[in-house]
Amino acid sequence: MGKVSIALRGWRFDEEEVFDEDGELRPLEEMPEETRRRLIRLRVVVGEPCDACWLIEEERADCNVARMVYGEPLAEVLLCPDHEPEFLYWFRESGGSDYKGQSDFADAFHEWFAAGNRAPDGYGNDDHVDTEPDNVPHPTPDVDELPTFEEALEEIDDEELDALGMDYSDIT
Ligand SMILES: [Zn+2]
Repeated sequence: MGKVSIALRGWRFDEEEVFDEDGELRPLEEMPEETRRRLIRLRVVVGEPCDACWLIEEERADCNVARMVYGEPLAEVLLCPDHEPEFLYWFRESGGSDYKGQSDFADAFHEWFAAGNRAPDGYGNDDHVDTEPDNVPHPTPDVDELPTFEEALEEIDDEELDALGMDYSDIT
């Protein structure tokens, strides 16, 4: 068992923390708090537009749906494949990694992008960087091999969130 992305590339989950031996999603209350917060947040951000598209398009309908999520819940950056290179360049070459793990992570990228900064032409689109604190770099798995959002998250319903007896309204 290893690390997997769910629904969006970027955030990584310990497979055994999230899925049981049969590949079924574990009950939320059995998951570590950090994992639970990420999953709950993922439920909200899947299907949302790319942040960078949003900054340059007037209409939501003109934005690409995000395929990657970087950063921490609530400070996450959502990206489409077209704009991932801008983010990677910002993170690696333009000071973005200084914001790793911080609450102004997304704001800092948005400001950089909104100011007209872009990656050089041809900057790597196949790479992945680790924006999560205390994780080692890892290769990005083939998206086709990942558990689908439907399989993993549709089972989480609001009643189950209520049953946890904890307030997640800040991230939903
Ligand atoms: Zn985009």
